[in-house]
Amino acid sequence: MDIPAPEILKKPLEIPNKILMGAGPANVSPRVLHAISKPILGHMNQELFQIMDEIKEGIKYVFQTRNDLTLAISASGHAGMEAVMSNLLEPGDKVLIAVNGLWGVRASDMAGRYDAQVVKMTANMGSNFTLREIEYYLQTESPKLLFIVQGETSTGVYQPLEGIGSLCHRYNCLLAVDVVASVGAVEFLMDRWEIDVAYAGVQKALGAPPGLTIISFSPRAQKVIFERTTPIKVYYWDMKILGQQWNCYNNVRPYHHTTCSALLVGLRESLAIITEAGLKNWQQKHKEGYKQLKKGLEKLGFEFFVDDESKRLITVTSVVVKDFDWKELVKCAMNKHNVEIAGGLGPTAGKILRIGVMGYNANPYTIDYVLNALKDALNHSRTYKT
Ligand code: PMP
Repeated sequence: MDIPAPEILKKPLEIPNKILMGAGPANVSPRVLHAISKPILGHMNQELFQIMDEIKEGIKYVFQTRNDLTLAISASGHAGMEAVMSNLLEPGDKVLIAVNGLWGVRASDMAGRYDAQVVKMTANMGSNFTLREIEYYLQTESPKLLFIVQGETSTGVYQPLEGIGSLCHRYNCLLAVDVVASVGAVEFLMDRWEIDVAYAGVQKALGAPPGLTIISFSPRAQKVIFERTTPIKVYYWDMKILGQQWNCYNNVRPYHHTTCSALLVGLRESLAIITEAGLKNWQQKHKEGYKQLKKGLEKLGFEFFVDDESKRLITVTSVVVKDFDWKELVKCAMNKHNVEIAGGLGPTAGKILRIGVMGYNANPYTIDYVLNALKDALNHSRTYKT
C-alpha cells in the first residue's frame, strides 16, 4: 500500500458541546440524539417503511396539507430547491423568482441550469414583496412558476404568503415556497394558502439533524410533473420514482436509493415531539423566544437590520454591524462561550450578524445564556474597533 493509515484517525473522536445559534442547524434534543443512535435499518425493511409513513403524516401536519405527494429527500435544504426546479420546469419555461436576499439569487442560478427563462422580481434587502408587486409581474410576464422564500435567512426577512397562491392560480402560475427556516416556527397553511410546492431542511425549527429535506407537491403540481414532455433531468430528484419509494401513489415501493435510516428515525422523533407539543405551541415558543432575544438585544444596544418589525423573521434576527468588530464578536462567542452566532451571508456578508432561535434552542434558558455571551463578546469586540 502506498498510503499509510492516517494517524489522525487513531485519536479518539471529540465533539464539543456547542450552542448553535446561527441560521441553522440548531441543537437537537437528547431524545432525537438517542433515536439516531438506534440500530440501522435497511431501506427496504418493513420497519423503515412504517417510519417513512409516520414521517409523511408528520410532514402533512407541519405543512398543513393533505397532498399525497409528500416525502423526505435524502439531502439538505438545497435539494428541495433542486427538486422544485427539476420537476416543475422544462427547457424554455418561464420562472419568476422573488429576490430579496441570497436564496432568491441561488434559486435563479439553479433554475437557469435547467434551461428555464429566469425573470427576477427584486425587493430591497430587508424588505419583502406585496401582492400588488407580485400581481404586476404575473400579469406582465405570465410565468409558469413563481418561487418565493417565506424566511429569507440571509437578511432575516419574513414574507407573508396569504393571497399569493390564489393570485398565482388566477394567472395560471404555480407557486413554490422555500420554508426551510420558517416552518414549525411561524404559521404555514399549505392547502389553505394554495401553495403548490413547499420544502424545508429539517435542521432548524423542526429540531432534527441536518441531511434531510421535507417536500410536498399539490395535485396541480403533481399533474404538471406527470404531463411533462421531457424527462426530469436529475434521477435523484425525480418525484415520479421517488414518490413510489415513499408510497405516494400506488402502494408499490421500488428501490430508488438507499435512504438513511438514522436520519429518518431522528426526523420521526422530532416530528413526534412537535406533534406531542402541538404545532401551535411549538410556534408559540418560537415567538416567545424571539421576543426575549429582541428585548435582550435592544438592551445591549444592537440595531435591527429589518426596521419594520412586521417584516422580521422570528427565527433569524439580524442586527447591524456598526461600533464593533463582528469577526471578533463571533470568535469570542465561540471560543469563550461555545456559542455559534452567524455573520452575514452573500449580499449581507460583513454588514450584519444573525442570531437564530430555532427548535430545541427556542427556550428561555438557552436564550438567556446566549444574551450573556453576547454581552461579553460585544464588550470584547468593541476594543478592536478603531
Ligand atoms: N433556504 C433557506 C432559506 C436557507 O436558510 C437555507 C440554508 N440554511 C437553504 C435554503 C439551504 O439549506 P441547506 O443548507 O440545508 O442545503
